Amino acid sequence: MAHPRHELVRARAGSACEYCRIPAAVYAGPFTTEHIIARQHGGSDRDDNLAFSCARCNLHKGPNIAGLDPDTGELTRLFNPRSDRWDDHFVWSGHILAGRSPIGRTSVRVLAMNEPTIRAVRAALLLEGVFPPITSG
Ligand SMILES: [Zn+2]
Repeated sequence: MAHPRHELVRARAGSACEYCRIPAAVYAGPFTTEHIIARQHGGSDRDDNLAFSCARCNLHKGPNIAGLDPDTGELTRLFNPRSDRWDDHFVWSGHILAGRSPIGRTSVRVLAMNEPTIRAVRAALLLEGVFPPITSG
């Protein structure tokens, strides 16, 4: 059932969702190998089109490759974990994930990255001192 390269994709991602960065070690939900550009849109099955994603982000992303920037209403592509730097597009404000670019804002919205259930998980992890989990420099 799992993608044949799931373990490689997981290792490359440091075992954290490449969109919302929830670590697999602390989040009970399943994680999946996700096609960044869905096969429906001609996305390939190569490593450069695969991302490690929590099932929650994957569910909301579905086959979407773009959305409307909530600030401007402009059609904007979604974050691409292979070609974009996470820190260029997202920033933590406590347990809330904010977009710092049109791509970030659009991805936060389409992937529902601040829905109440995941915010509650992050708030609890924040109290435990294990979140935010990754600081890349
Ligand atoms: Zn996620």
